[in-house]
Amino acid sequence: MHKKTFICFFLIAHCLFAGAQSYKKLHFNAVVVDTHNDLLTTAIDKGLVIDQDLSGKTHSDLARLKKGGVDVQLFSVWCDGLKADPYAWANREMDTLDAVAKRNPDKIMKVGNTAELLQALKAKKIAAMFGVEGGHMIENSLDKLYHFYRRGARYMTLTWNNSTEWATSALDETTKADSLKHKGLTAFGKQVVQRMNELGMLVDLSHVGEQTFWDAINTSTNPVLVSHSCVYTLCPHRRNLKDDQIKAIAKNGGVIHLNFYSGFVDSSFERRSEIFNSNHKTERDSILKINPEPYFADVFV
Ligand SMILES: [Zn+2]
Repeated sequence: MHKKTFICFFLIAHCLFAGAQSYKKLHFNAVVVDTHNDLLTTAIDKGLVIDQDLSGKTHSDLARLKKGGVDVQLFSVWCDGLKADPYAWANREMDTLDAVAKRNPDKIMKVGNTAELLQALKAKKIAAMFGVEGGHMIENSLDKLYHFYRRGARYMTLTWNNSTEWATSALDETTKADSLKHKGLTAFGKQVVQRMNELGMLVDLSHVGEQTFWDAINTSTNPVLVSHSCVYTLCPHRRNLKDDQIKAIAKNGGVIHLNFYSGFVDSSFERRSEIFNSNHKTERDSILKINPEPYFADVFV
């Protein structure tokens, strides 16, 4: 190896090593907050226990969250709009995490306010809260919303892909615009936002349609959250935020957490996914016979 080449190699290796060190230092010194993890739903669907080693089965488990430097975890509480009893289902998901927290008091702590969160961080435990992903789970009841708050939910996404009777989703506003009974927030929808403000529960605007977004941001007196969405200008997907929405969130003092789902960062993804699924229709249909939930059968490439 020539001396010059060797020096060059050494410098590159040194820079790479220093870079790796600095990002790790930055990551592990920072308070890392993940506002959306679907682990509870996956655990119930697959019959898994999240305080066991789930390597190869899920993206995370209790030990890997810790190892990966996640300090604050908002566990998503989710079911789709077809579930007959969404409120009961949401409570079941909450029971799952509560049982895990009870079994692992040295590793994870449910927190409900800033003081408790700081206490968990100091004790090097994962600070855990719930994020209810979809207003349908309150079943049009402010009492049920309060119950979720009491159980540790600190945000609620006003809609998932399905609209509620009081808020329209991005999916419905863009694909069913002509058949919607209402668009945006109804009077009750505004009451939900106001009640969340009173409770100290973040209004999450991921998944909502643009009309719901503007109605909510004009109603909320507190900063809002967008827990898992990206940038429309970079990838024009209905789940992403347009520039005027991003500016409105900044003005409101809110926070946007990004989502690494391929469809929100790669504009060719959805089309490729559709082609893949139609090319594998037979396999897809056979999976649907076992489990009719479409999300079990779709292959996202
Ligand atoms: Zn989502």
